[in-house]
Parts: sequence; structure tokens; C-alpha cells
Amino acid sequence: MMTFEGFSITNRMRCEDASGFSHPLNSWSLSDWITATTGELGEAANIAKKLNRVRDGIPGNTQPEEELRANLKDELADVFIYLDLLAQSQGISLEQAVRDKFNATSRRIGCPIEC
Ligand SMILES: [Mg+2]
Repeated sequence: MMTFEGFSITNRMRCEDASGFSHPLNSWSLSDWITATTGELGEAANIAKKLNRVRDGIPGNTQPEEELRANLKDELADVFIYLDLLAQSQGISLEQAVRDKFNATSRRIGCPIEC
């Protein structure tokens, strides 16, 4: 089973390695990484727009719903992959950041559920 940390190591390796994208993390600015990440989120939002058409019976889609849902899955994965690289480029462990923030919110609302 893939751990969050293990994924991050592999993700960075593919990004930077000559057999991958040959793209050192520090060759992009924070702004570059944010742009890439939000670009993928925008792609997911465009699919959500098309799924809204399905929900509301509005014409215009060229793909069936099941294809849109498969594409949504891919775009959400792209968001996650870029978000992890963005965080790593800033020296942030996304795993630790998510855990810290999730647990802080649980404590703030008096919820015993923590990760
Ligand atoms: Mg994409």
C-alpha cells in the first residue's frame, strides 16, 4: 500500500529525474506551481460544469456521463500530484500539513476525530 510520504518521494523523483520530466522543483517559482495546480483544478471544474449539464438535462456535452466521471478522477489526481510538488517546492510536507490542520480544526470544533 502506498503511503503519503512514499508517494511524495516517488512524485519528486519522477519530476526531477532524467527518465521523467527532468524538472528540478526549484526551477519553478511558487507562482508557477500554483498556476499548474489551479490549472488542473480548473480542468476538474470544467468537467463538473458538464456533469451539471447532465444533472440539469442541458444539451451541449460531447462525452457520456461515465466518460466525464472517469476524466474527473484523472483531473483530481492531477491536482493532487501538482499540489504535492507545490508543497515540496516550499519545503512543506503535505502529509504533515494536512494532519496538523485537520486535527487543529477538530480540536477547534470539539470533535474527537483526528488523524
Ligand atoms: Mg489534467
